Amino acid sequence: MTAILDGAAVAAGILTRIAAASKQLAATGITPTLTVVTATADPITAKWTQILSRAADQAGMTCRPITLGPGATSADIRATLTELSMEPEVNGIVLQVPLPPGIELDTLTDAIAIDKDIDGANPLSAGRLARDLPVFAPAIARAVVTLLNHHMIQIRDKKVVVVGRSNAVGKPIADLLLQRNATVTICHRHTTNLAEITRTADLVIAAAGHPGLITVEHIHPEAVLIDVGLNLTPAGKLVGDVNATEVIGHVAALTPVPGGVGPVTTAMLLDHTLRAVHISSRTTSP
Ligand code: NAD
Repeated sequence: MTAILDGAAVAAGILTRIAAASKQLAATGITPTLTVVTATADPITAKWTQILSRAADQAGMTCRPITLGPGATSADIRATLTELSMEPEVNGIVLQVPLPPGIELDTLTDAIAIDKDIDGANPLSAGRLARDLPVFAPAIARAVVTLLNHHMIQIRDKKVVVVGRSNAVGKPIADLLLQRNATVTICHRHTTNLAEITRTADLVIAAAGHPGLITVEHIHPEAVLIDVGLNLTPAGKLVGDVNATEVIGHVAALTPVPGGVGPVTTAMLLDHTLRAVHISSRTTSP
């Protein structure tokens, strides 16, 4: 029997709590505000921004999309991030990928003020996270930990394998789990014996962006599988990195796609925005 770890219900609970806090802030004349900067015509990015805006609305916050378009230059994006970093009404800034061809995310994220870096994208935020200092971790990483905590899945002392080592997803997830005393192994595209390694894990975090990568041969029956992957099939269906049809019944627990990590990630961005409002009224870091 495989438990399905619902993320939508977890997210709904977080949004209710945030909405109550936003209401209190509204009484003092403050509306928590986040901005999402995009420089792409990618329909998934547009859809995701729409989902985030809707969730922000529900939580009594403002989500301001800044659509620069696929023709934006590196200088345009940097100028926008710098301006938003200085704007007092803006509490949170997210720079969405993909960026126009030839522009690397890491060449721009240092322009996001640390106290508004609600998705932990600035390399300084990543450094602070690695050193276990107060900072906004990437929302995806906090979502994984929040989901596990909510479903009372132990992290401490567990053997975790993270499949994927990107700066935005795999590494920060590994950082947070390591901080919580898991024994963490990171695998990637050049790992030659993936199934052999994941089969030894209590907890597998699939974050490769490779549909159906994790199959029954990658898991043992008591394992918990967190599927971070979000992939669009040629037929337009959203699927994860786990072959869910195959593993259900052969694993202890699994997050669904959609409705697993995704909604909690959105809720975490709003949670960080709320925290950023409080930070802006004092001088300490997140
Ligand atoms: P990326 O392409 O930057 O990195 C992918 C990582 O996976 C790399 O480290 C690569 O070495 C590894 N990898 C790829 N194929 C592999 C294979 N066959 N075996 C082992 N390792 C392999 O992608 P990313 O930005 O890290 O995103 C990863 C996935 O997470 C994507 O599907 C993305 O859409 C998803 N994502 C989900 C959320 C969410 O809210 N659920 C948020 C952000 C990203």
